[in-house]
Amino acid sequence: MTTSATTPPAAPAAPAGRAGSPTRPPQSRGRRPLTDEERKQRFEARLAATRNEHSTRLALAIAKRLTDDGAVLCPKCGKGAPRGKFKIHADGGWKHFSSTGCSGDAVAVLQAAGISTGDAVRVLNGLPTRTPIEVPEDAAALAQAFVGVKSVVDTNVFNAVLHYGRNTGGVELAKEFYGTWHISPEAVQESGAVVIADPKQFEQGLIAKFGVERLIACGLFTTNSKGEPFCLVSKRFPVVEPHRHPVTGDVLYMQFRASHEQYERYLAHKRGEREYKGSEKIISLRGAPTEAQIGTGLHVLGARNPDGTYVVPDEAEVTIVEGFKDTLAGRTAGLHTYGLPGTGVRPPAEVCKLLSRFTTVKVAMDGDEAGNNARDELVEYLREHQVRAEPMAMPKDLDLTDVLVGWHASGHWTGTPCGCPTCTKFRTDHPDRFRNS
Ligand SMILES: [Zn+2]
Ligand SMILES: [Zn+2]
Repeated sequence: MTTSATTPPAAPAAPAGRAGSPTRPPQSRGRRPLTDEERKQRFEARLAATRNEHSTRLALAIAKRLTDDGAVLCPKCGKGAPRGKFKIHADGGWKHFSSTGCSGDAVAVLQAAGISTGDAVRVLNGLPTRTPIEVPEDAAALAQAFVGVKSVVDTNVFNAVLHYGRNTGGVELAKEFYGTWHISPEAVQESGAVVIADPKQFEQGLIAKFGVERLIACGLFTTNSKGEPFCLVSKRFPVVEPHRHPVTGDVLYMQFRASHEQYERYLAHKRGEREYKGSEKIISLRGAPTEAQIGTGLHVLGARNPDGTYVVPDEAEVTIVEGFKDTLAGRTAGLHTYGLPGTGVRPPAEVCKLLSRFTTVKVAMDGDEAGNNARDELVEYLREHQVRAEPMAMPKDLDLTDVLVGWHASGHWTGTPCGCPTCTKFRTDHPDRFRNS
C-alpha cells in the first residue's frame, strides 16, 4: 500500500500588472506565524461568517437562552420573549420587541453569557476554543425549533397518545397528580389529560406502531445533535396536556408537564440555585403550527346536546386563563374556562368565532406584570374579533391554581384549613394572607 504524497500546491503566479509588488515567499506547508494583518483578516472573515440567522440561533442555544418551546429568554434583559416577540433577521441581527428594545447579534449573545469575543467567533465557526464552552446536546434541535420548521398535525398519533395513557392507568395517575393542587378528578377526566407511567414502553410502542420518521414529523419525537431520536414524553415530563378540537375532540396539540421531581428543579432555577438548562416546567410539541395551538377546554365549550343546542349556554360566563393547570383549577371552581398555552399566544380566528357567542368573556391572566400587559393586549385582540371580552382583576402574583389552593389552605372551601403539603407550603409562602387566621 502506497500513500501518494500530495504535491504541494504551486505558488500562485503573480497577477499581471502587479510587476512592481514585492515577490511573496512561496506558500510554506509548515506553520508560519501569521502577521498582524493576516490575523485581522482571518478574524474579520470568521466574524462575517457569524452574521446569519443560523449562527444567532446556535448562539442562543449555546448560551442556553432557548427554551424547549422554541421561545427565547432575551440575552440582554433576561426576560422570556414569547413567540413573535423575538425576531432574528437574515443578517443574524436580533431584536426583542419589548419596552426595553433589546438587540444584538450572535456574538453579542455569547458575550452576554460571559464568553470572550474570540471564543464566541471560534465556537460559532465550529473551531476549538481557548476556554471550554459547553455546547448543549440538543443545540441543533433547539435552534431548529426556533427556526420555525413546522411539524404536521397528526391527530392519529396524538389521539393514540391519550389512548395509550387511558389503557395504562394514566387517567387515574393524572387525577392523583393534579389532585396535589386540589384540582377535581372530574375536571381532569373531562380534559383528557393522562400521565404516562412507563415512558420507555410507551416510546417503543409508538415506534412499533408509527415508525420514527412519522413521530419526528409530528413533533412528538425530536433528534439530538447526534441525530438520535428521542421522545418528548419522558420520566421528567410524563404528564400529557392535550389541546382538543372543539367539535370532534381530536387532539391537535400537546404539552408535557414536569413530574413533581422535575418541578423541584424548575423551582430551584427560579430561586437562582440552578442554571436554566434542564429546569423547564413544561415542554411542547416541536415546531407545531400556531393554528394547532388552539388552547384547552374548547371541546367542553363546543359540546352540543343531542338536539343540537350547546351544553354551555350563550349566557354562561367564560373565563380565559393561562395554561392547562389553570383551565382545570377554574373548572374545579365551577367556571367555564378556556386556557391559552402562554401569554403571547393569540386564539386563532375560528376560536374567536366560537367564543363570540358568549355574552361575557373574562380575561384572567396571572397577576404579575407580564400577565397584566398580556391581558390588556389580549382583550383588545379579542374585541377586534367580535368577542365580548373584559379584563378580570387577579390577586397580585397569584394564578387561578393558587387561588384554589388558597381556598383550601384558609379553610374557605371546606371550613377547616387543609393540612396537605401544598396548602402548608402555601401558608408559608403567603404569610400575609393568613395573619389573622
Ligand atoms: Zn430583552
Ligand atoms: Zn391542601
